[in-house]
Amino acid sequence: MRLSFHPRLVNGPFDDPGLFIPFQFQNRALIFDLGDINRLTPKDILKISHVFVSHTHMDHFIGFDRLLRLSLGREKNLAFYGPPGFLENLEGKLAGYTWNLADKYNYPLSLQASEVHPRYTLCRRYRCRDRFQPQRDPVEKPFTGTLYEEPAFRVSAAVLDHKMPCLGFSIRERFHVNIIKDGLKALGLTPGPWLTEFKQALYRQTDRAAKFEAKFDRQKPAKHFTLGALADDIARITPGQKISYITDVVYSQSNREQIVALVNGSDHLFIEAVFLDQDREIAKRKHHLTTRQAGHLAGTAQVKQMTVFHFSPRYMGMEQQLRNEAMAAYERSLCKR
Ligand SMILES: [Zn+2]
Ligand SMILES: [Zn+2]
Repeated sequence: MRLSFHPRLVNGPFDDPGLFIPFQFQNRALIFDLGDINRLTPKDILKISHVFVSHTHMDHFIGFDRLLRLSLGREKNLAFYGPPGFLENLEGKLAGYTWNLADKYNYPLSLQASEVHPRYTLCRRYRCRDRFQPQRDPVEKPFTGTLYEEPAFRVSAAVLDHKMPCLGFSIRERFHVNIIKDGLKALGLTPGPWLTEFKQALYRQTDRAAKFEAKFDRQKPAKHFTLGALADDIARITPGQKISYITDVVYSQSNREQIVALVNGSDHLFIEAVFLDQDREIAKRKHHLTTRQAGHLAGTAQVKQMTVFHFSPRYMGMEQQLRNEAMAAYERSLCKR
């Protein structure tokens, strides 16, 4: 199966957290957490449209400046999501620079930020042409778990505890569309950008009888189909992909329940495992997970693949031991179900 999302950690497991999620065949990406992003190329950074920040400890938010620096002067809308206090942190970052010439840029960069509370979000806009001074008070909207939604996918979040609110994230594709090459050939069709439009039409429409016009290049006339019939011939619909990201959380009852509910059945879970099991007392004091706790959560939630990260520097050179301990706990918990 060809995947829509291709998530990868920006850095190694001892460095700043960040999960970069580029979309297949689209010049676009999301990112979960914004630590040091210097390992991403400018081209990749400019693909980012939505930024989901778990919390604003420095190792999760220092990449904001790099993203802003590259985006400045471009026609771009960037959306940010973060925990309670996020708007103040973002405004603090913006207040650290002088913007007296910012209204001279030809292209209008705009930032839309949402601060996520357990039952509501506060949204505010910051435009380059206004020197990033917000023109209105934050707008309150109800929050019931879904942070952001498009026809093809949605991003959900849970407000977790890290001795401060910290967000866990999950992205879920509604369904996945695989194109059958033989089906294309039988209809005399060739692949092209029209296939992206076809997929978008499938996500938007529930009516099989809806019309779809496949537009090719200038030489070739467009062809007309009904969406359902074309889908039967050239597409195979499979369950959508689910990718989840959990970091900086204490192993409490409430966190465990919320994490398992959020990440349940993920194709791939990225989860912090800061300490070895032998150091679980330190993990508790610092409000982080151990390898065993991470593995146990992943197994209990029946995730198909687990990647652990955010290792404490005290274990430098012991990556394999950390991974093995997490994997053993994951497999034990999977078997118990
Ligand atoms: Zn951290
Ligand atoms: Zn933290």
